[in-house]
Amino acid sequence: MRIQDVLILDLDAPGATRGPVDIEIVDGRIARIAHSVRPNPQDSDTRLKLGAAAGRVIDGAGLLAIPGLVNAHLHSSGHFSRGLLDNLPLELFMLWELPPLEAEPSPPELYRARVLSGAVQMLKSGITSVMDDPIYTPEATDEAIDAVMGAYRDVGLRATVSIYQPNKTEYDWFPYLPQLLPPDLRRRMGEQSRPSTAQIMETYRAFCGRWHGAADGRLRCAASCSAPQRATDDYLIGLHKLAADWGLPLVMHVYESKVQRVAGELLYGRSLVRHVRDLGALDERTVVVHAVWVDDQDISDLAEASCTVVHSPSGNLRCGSGIMPYRDLMRAGVHMALCTDEATVEDTCSLWSAGRLAAQLHKITGPDYEAWPTAEEILRAMTEGGARAMGLRGEIGVLREGARADIVLIDLSTSNYVPMVNLPRHLVYGEDGRSIRMVMVDGKIVVEDGRVVTVDEEGLLEEARGLMASWAASLGSTERWADLLRPYVEEMYRRCVRFDVGFTRWLHDPAT
Ligand SMILES: [Zn+2]
Repeated sequence: MRIQDVLILDLDAPGATRGPVDIEIVDGRIARIAHSVRPNPQDSDTRLKLGAAAGRVIDGAGLLAIPGLVNAHLHSSGHFSRGLLDNLPLELFMLWELPPLEAEPSPPELYRARVLSGAVQMLKSGITSVMDDPIYTPEATDEAIDAVMGAYRDVGLRATVSIYQPNKTEYDWFPYLPQLLPPDLRRRMGEQSRPSTAQIMETYRAFCGRWHGAADGRLRCAASCSAPQRATDDYLIGLHKLAADWGLPLVMHVYESKVQRVAGELLYGRSLVRHVRDLGALDERTVVVHAVWVDDQDISDLAEASCTVVHSPSGNLRCGSGIMPYRDLMRAGVHMALCTDEATVEDTCSLWSAGRLAAQLHKITGPDYEAWPTAEEILRAMTEGGARAMGLRGEIGVLREGARADIVLIDLSTSNYVPMVNLPRHLVYGEDGRSIRMVMVDGKIVVEDGRVVTVDEEGLLEEARGLMASWAASLGSTERWADLLRPYVEEMYRRCVRFDVGFTRWLHDPAT
C-alpha cells in the first residue's frame, strides 16, 4: 500500500511537518518514506511497476499523516458506565467501579461488548493503541479474559492488556476504615473470596501464553497490581518478576487521591512510591498512573527509576482528586504519557479531549507561564510517551521507516487548519477527530469515511441495548451495597481530607 503526496507530522522538523512524501507500507510496517515522485502518466512501465509494488494507492494530497494516538490507560470494563456517576471523590466513586461486596459475575459477552463499544469510539477519534486494565468482578476468569482479547483481535485496535486484580481485603487498603466499619459489614467484606497470589500468577502465565504477541504482535499482555496499597508484597514482587520474564509493562495506580497519600503515611509509614521502590518493583517497565499526590522525593524516585507516568486529566478533574505536578515531573526527567482513563470519567474516550484538558489545566497552577506545558509537549505525550509506556518505543507513536504503520490521515482543508499557523496547536487545541479521513493499524485500514470497517457498528449498538438489562440488574445490587457502605467511606474520606500531609494538590485544602 502507498500513501502518495502526503504531509507528515514531524515534531523535530521546522513547522512540525515534512513533505509532501510518499509512504510505502509493506507487511504492516512503514517500508519507505520518500519525497513524492509523480509517475509519468505516459510511461506505462513505471505506472505498472508502482501499482504492483504499492497495492492500493491512497491520494494523500491535502492530507496530514500523524502517528496513531496512544491511549496509555483505560478500563474497558467501564464503557457501559458513561454518565453513571458525577461529583463523587474517588473512594466513593469506586464503590460502583469495584463493588466490594457480592459483585455479580459479568458474562463474557458483556466484556466483549464493552471492549468493542470503546474501541469503535477510540478508533474513530484516531487512537490506534491502548493500554487496557480491565476490572474483572469478582475476579478474572479465562473466559472473560479471552472475551476481552478476542474483541481487540477482531476490531483491529493495538492493545496491551493487563488484569486489574487487587488481592487484599478492601478495608485493609484504607486508613481508618477497619475501625469505622460495623463488625457485621467488616466480617462480610473479609469473607469475600479472593484469589491467592499463586492462583493469580497462574492465571497471568496462562494469559501470557495464550495472548502475548497474538494477532501478529498487535496484542500484548501487561501486569497490573491495581495499586501498591491494594496488593500484598509477595504479589507485587511476583508481578514484577513476571513483567521482567515476559518483557511486559507493570501498571499501577499511585497517588491518585489524598486518601492514598494518607494511606501511605498511616499504613506503611512512608511514601507508596518508596514502598514500591524498596520492593525492587520500580524501574523502566513501571507505568505509574495518576501521580497527583507525589512529593518531591517521589518525583525524584520516579525519574531515577526511568518509569513512565500517565496523566489522566479527565479522571483527576471528574473525581476532584487534585492537579498533578506536570512540570515538576517533566523537569525531573519523568517520561509522560496521556490517557482517557475510564469512560465513567472521560465519556468521549477521546485523547483529543484529554490532551486539550492537559494543555489547559496546568495553566492555573501558577503564574510562571514558561512552566506551563506546551502543545508540542502534550502531543509527544499522546504519541511517543504512550509508545514508551507500552514498551513499543520506536515501533509506534512515530512515523519513520521501520515503524509499525499505525497512521491517521487528517484533512487539512477543514476550518481548524485554514489558515495554518502552528500545527501542534491546531492539533491539540482545535482537533476533535472530525478532520480524520482514514485510520490504519499495522497498515490495515480500520476507519474510512467515518466508519469502522472491521465490525458492524449498528449491530454492536443493538447488542449493547440487549445487554443493558442484565447490566442494570447487577448495578442494582452494587447500589444497595454502596448505599450501606457510603457513611463509613465518607467519614474515612473526611478524616483524610483534614490530615496534613505537608503539601496540597487542591486549590483549596482545609488541612493547610
Ligand atoms: Zn485507572
